[in-house]
Amino acid sequence: MTETLNFDVTTVTESRIHQFDPNNITFGSLFTDHMLVADYIDGQWQTPKILPFGDISYNPALASLHYGQAIFEGMKAFKNDDDEVLMFRPQDNWQRFNISAERMCMAQVPEEIFIGGLEELLRLDAAWVPKGEDNSLYLRPFMISSDVYLGVRPSQNYRFMIIMSPAGQYYSTPPKVKVETEFIRAAPGGVGYAKCAGNYASSLYPAKLAQEQGYTQLLWTDAIEHKYFEESGTMNVMFVIDGKLVTPAVSSTILKGVTRDSLIKLAQSMGIEVEERRVSVEEVISGISNGTVTEVFGAGTAVVVSPFAAIGYEGEDYVLPAITEQSLSSKLKKALNDVRTGKVEDTFGWVWKVNA
Ligand SMILES: *Cc1c(COP(=O)(O)O)cnc(C)c1O
Repeated sequence: MTETLNFDVTTVTESRIHQFDPNNITFGSLFTDHMLVADYIDGQWQTPKILPFGDISYNPALASLHYGQAIFEGMKAFKNDDDEVLMFRPQDNWQRFNISAERMCMAQVPEEIFIGGLEELLRLDAAWVPKGEDNSLYLRPFMISSDVYLGVRPSQNYRFMIIMSPAGQYYSTPPKVKVETEFIRAAPGGVGYAKCAGNYASSLYPAKLAQEQGYTQLLWTDAIEHKYFEESGTMNVMFVIDGKLVTPAVSSTILKGVTRDSLIKLAQSMGIEVEERRVSVEEVISGISNGTVTEVFGAGTAVVVSPFAAIGYEGEDYVLPAITEQSLSSKLKKALNDVRTGKVEDTFGWVWKVNA
């Protein structure tokens, strides 16, 4: 439970829920009836407003448009069998948001606004949280600098917002991923650990080149030697090596994923050995060839786990064994989904029930 806070609420006169077909969801294109807008002005958070979802006008000199002080989070809400709305580990996202804010020199967002705002919105738009395996409501808290000023300096004013969009089943064949050895996502001392907008802009071009070569996505390597795996696309990366779950240790260049952490804890609870350490490209490529590396997968809120079909390295494709229900990634995915959707008892304290 968060401290209660007053929100200035304006509800829609007519819901747009009839536009929503739970059996035909396209990610990120349809938004719920309401959104939250909270402004930070003169060092103070103003009363957050809940408004009908819609366009917002902005001044062309808005600082965030020019110098990119912009951060976001990605989370999901689910409905359990009793139609209660559940969030998954929202405090971890709130804390990570403020870590991103600190690195980008932005205002800290209080829990009452971040989590309290999510709860308030979820109560109003509960009808938009879809039921059913693999369905959820995607939650997107974000913040931009809002000074109208072209000088390069930290903005004095910020706008925090939350928008929400139904997310459906993620149909996809296991991707072929390319080990990137020229471009980098993050360097030590940089902003790789922050969920800041620019990280995603800079990843588009190398991803496009990989797509032109027939790969779905990239496996990022370290900026200095291009020898060690870091992340995959916008997910953390995990390996099954000799039956153990192995994943790069978090650092300033790796985003500390909530899914990554949850999968580690679930694996440990299943008695699987977990190693957080450096993982070299050489270890994985030779391990695929000699059969010690049996699974490689991305881990993130959107898909939970995304097992890879093959890894491309220096022009050669190394094919991974097909995933079955017995694969560790399948078991971990099921275990995490069962906790997130309230199907099994939450022994970790991860599930946050939104009171109606
Ligand atoms: C969001 C994100 C992840 C995954 O984080 P989760 O909390 O598991 O969703 C991993 N890497 C990057 C670069 C990300 O932006």
